[in-house]
Amino acid sequence: MAETKEREEEIEEQEKIEKYRKAGQIAARIRKELNKLVKVGTPVIEICNRVENLIKELGGNPAFPCNVSINNIAAHYTSPPNDKTVLEDNSIVKVDFGVHIDGFIADTAITFDLNSGFEKLKEAAEEALRVAIENIKAGVKTNEIGKLIHEKIREHGYKPIRDLSGHLLDEYSLHGAKIIPNIALPHGETIEVGEVYAVETFASTGSGTVHEKPYAYIYRVLPVRIPVRLLSSRKLLKIASERFKGLPFAERWLVKEIPAIKLAIRELTNKGILYEYHVLADERESMVAQAEHTIIVTEDGCEVITSTKGEEP
Ligand code: MN
Ligand code: MN
Repeated sequence: MAETKEREEEIEEQEKIEKYRKAGQIAARIRKELNKLVKVGTPVIEICNRVENLIKELGGNPAFPCNVSINNIAAHYTSPPNDKTVLEDNSIVKVDFGVHIDGFIADTAITFDLNSGFEKLKEAAEEALRVAIENIKAGVKTNEIGKLIHEKIREHGYKPIRDLSGHLLDEYSLHGAKIIPNIALPHGETIEVGEVYAVETFASTGSGTVHEKPYAYIYRVLPVRIPVRLLSSRKLLKIASERFKGLPFAERWLVKEIPAIKLAIRELTNKGILYEYHVLADERESMVAQAEHTIIVTEDGCEVITSTKGEEP
C-alpha cells in the first residue's frame, strides 16, 4: 500500500507544478500585453483594471492587486477607487502583478522607462535578476544569491534596496519563510529542490532603503478572531476569507459591493484585523527599477515560469 500512497503524492506534486506553470503562462502573456498598455498618458487605474481583468479572462485569479509604482515609489501602490493618476513623461514605472490557480502563485514585475533618462537603472535590475536566476539551484544559499544581486547592481553604480527581497511562494501564501535578499548578508538558508520563489531585484539611485508612506490601498486579513461591530466589516471579512482566502486585496475591488468600505477598513485596521500594505518609497527625487520572475528550483538550476520561450528572463 505504501507504493500507492507514494504514487498519489507524486501525482499531487505534478498537479501542483502544472498549476504553477499555468499561472506562469498567464503572467507571461500579460507581460507582453503591458508593452502596449504602459504609455505616457495612460491612467494608472486603467493598467490595474486591465491586468486584473486579463488574468481572469485567461483563466486565473489575481494573487494580489496589480501594483503600479512610479519613480521613487518602490512597491505597493495600486489605484484607489477613482484614481486620477496618469503616467507622465520622464518617469520610470514598475508594474508588478500576481496570478494564482487554486492558490499556486506566479509573481512577476516589469519596469518601463518612459524617457526617464534612467534606462541603465532598469538594465541594472534586469541583469541582477538574470544573474540570480542563472545561479539558483538546489543546495545554493540564499545569501550567495543576494551577494550576486548586490554586486551586479553596484557594478552599474546603483544601490540595491536592502529592505525588499525575493520570497518563497506556497499555496495561498505570498511570503513564505525564506527570502532571497537584494544584498550580501552574512547568513542564509539553503535553497531546496521543488521550492518556488519569486526572485525580485530592486536598483535605486537613492538611499537603497524604503520608508512607509502614510497611506495604503492594499490590505490583507490577519488570522485573528476579534468581534466586529459594523455590518460592512463582517461583509468584508466574509468576502476576504471566501473569495481571497487570505491573499491581499484592494479597496477598489470591493467599493461597489460594500459602499461603506472606508468605515469597515477603519474598524478592521483599528482592531488589528487588517494588515495595511503601506506604499513603500525611497527618498524624494530618487528613481527605482524592479525586475521579477517566479522560478521552480530543480537539481541543477531552475525553471522560470513567468517568461515565454525566447524571451530573455
Ligand atoms: Mn511581485
Ligand atoms: Mn514578489
